[in-house]
Amino acid sequence: MVQEKGTISINTENIFPIIKKFLYSDNEIFLRELVSNAVDATQKVKRLAALGHYNKDLGELRVKVSVNSGAKTITISDSGIGMTADEIKKYINQIAFSGATEFLEKFKEAKDANEIIGRFGLGFYSAFMVADRVEIQTLSYLDDAEPAKWVCDGSTSFEITEGNRTERGTDVILYINEESKEFLDEHRISEILNKYAKFLPVPVQFGTKKESVQDGEDEKGQPKYKTVEVDNIINNTVPIWTKAPGELKDEDYLEFYRELYPFAEEPLFWIHLNVDYPFNLTGVLYFPKLKNDFEIQKNKIKLFSRQVFITDEVKDIVPEFLLLLHGVIDSPDIPLNVSRSFLQADSNVKKINSYISRKVADKLAELFKKDRKPYEEKWTDIGLFVKYGALSDEKFYEKAKEFLLLTNTNNEHYTLEEYNAKVKDFQTDKNGTLVYLYTIDAERQHSYVQAAQKKGYDVLLMNSPIDTHFIHHLEMKLEKTSLKRVDADVLDKLIEKEEQSKHALTDEETRRLKEIFEKAINNPLMKVEIESQQAEGMPVTITMEEWMRRMKDMSRVGGGLNFYGSMPDTYKVAINANHKVVEKILKAGEEQQTRMAKQAFDLALLSQGMLKGADLTAFVERSVEVI
Ligand code: ADP
Repeated sequence: MVQEKGTISINTENIFPIIKKFLYSDNEIFLRELVSNAVDATQKVKRLAALGHYNKDLGELRVKVSVNSGAKTITISDSGIGMTADEIKKYINQIAFSGATEFLEKFKEAKDANEIIGRFGLGFYSAFMVADRVEIQTLSYLDDAEPAKWVCDGSTSFEITEGNRTERGTDVILYINEESKEFLDEHRISEILNKYAKFLPVPVQFGTKKESVQDGEDEKGQPKYKTVEVDNIINNTVPIWTKAPGELKDEDYLEFYRELYPFAEEPLFWIHLNVDYPFNLTGVLYFPKLKNDFEIQKNKIKLFSRQVFITDEVKDIVPEFLLLLHGVIDSPDIPLNVSRSFLQADSNVKKINSYISRKVADKLAELFKKDRKPYEEKWTDIGLFVKYGALSDEKFYEKAKEFLLLTNTNNEHYTLEEYNAKVKDFQTDKNGTLVYLYTIDAERQHSYVQAAQKKGYDVLLMNSPIDTHFIHHLEMKLEKTSLKRVDADVLDKLIEKEEQSKHALTDEETRRLKEIFEKAINNPLMKVEIESQQAEGMPVTITMEEWMRRMKDMSRVGGGLNFYGSMPDTYKVAINANHKVVEKILKAGEEQQTRMAKQAFDLALLSQGMLKGADLTAFVERSVEVI
């Protein structure tokens, strides 16, 4: 017997074609919406019982999802509060948005389903993205409630009749349409549940699974096992971020990490987030081993709202550099269903942003202060992250100054303040500028590093992909300090001191020497210069000016001006006027001069790993002849 027929009260012809059309792209979220509703209904009845408003047996509180591929239906059942016929009319029929006109205005700009569904409270109606008929069978928790049934075929007309449910709760039955057949595949449903429902607070059952259980003992007293069919609960109802940090051990955090990222290496450490004012936010953020590869590591943070998975695109919610972290954030205060530009301007999101950034800085400071040694051991990974943060967030840099480390070629770590104190006396040049020397590869630049060390200088190791930018940043931040790569010039010029020695060559000898080398090298990109250096140094040194190389590096890693990237490499070939070899070259016959100059130049190339191909072969042959 039909109790009531009517139309869904919105003053538009037919809303469903609109919903279908605009929501089609991510239609899998219908399941998230319906399961969330079922979970909410379950939690409501639990709360009513806790408050003493419901005194009957709560029974087994769980949500069941089932697929019937024969009947082409998906059913979402719960043992929640249920609805009376009146409540169906109120909550389901009058689509819960402020007005159809507003909806029609706004949907034109809406970019995705999330936006429409959330903004207009259309969660339940997302069912019509995949079904052409939806049925509700429900029985309210209220005393004397009658079971009710609601059916709607995707037009604006519905039908409410007497229902057949005998126990408290609701079944939502979707008659899946032709285009959405994929959702009748259990694997697909399982995949969607895994994505959105894995940490819901109420057990969600989907089908059954086989489990091995102990079944008595055999004659030898060994335990016997048998396989039984048990309900398959797909979720962990109390994920660690909902617990108090005090209850948790390291192993719990590590286990949860493995649950989130089964194939990842163990994280370095983690931060448990927990705020309730001025916004609500919980979560656990992990520091992964970064392994120099930023992009692969990004976008691993999962965003939840009351344990419902929302997205792993948290770009607008956490600061850029924190995208390198892994883990979860759960907040009911993040507006989930609005456009990106709105999100960025949202004041809660801004607060969350700076809160997380501050928490991360505090954690790092704490780790550093509490136990410096293990912190130093993890510095390769932490450092990338800290430098990235320092570069992109001024406030973070201010905090990071305390725990930001510089590493030298002896693998010793210093804070900025410590390093300044260490090298200040010896590495300040005649103009009062403090010069930090660095290498990007201590092996390849061994001869330069060694020469600097012999002179009593310290050399920093700057070999991570972010260092090109970081060096520049340091220079801007540190007072009267400049950074120079060890091969940016000959040692005496890298840090210019008062007592520059003059060389003993006459002007005529200097001119001739230059000519000899220019002829021998015969390459316009190699600029020969005769310089006064220590007699024990190398006869020939090849250097590239710091600013020029840096511009090139920057344009290579994408940041500087591209103009420099396209310029050819030009080098300085510094001839040590005080070296014995130079004296010999000047005294030798013409042919011999060129050979000697060439040999000395090749040796310089060789020590830099720049001697290759035909030049290397010629060098080897020439060397054999000399022997
Ligand atoms: P929202 O969940 O954003 O309120 P929905 O369209 O998803 O919007 O649901 C509308 C209302 O219908 C809910 O607020 C709730 O009162 C009711 N409802 C939906 N599903 C259920 C359910 N499984 N059990 C009880 N009530 C439900």
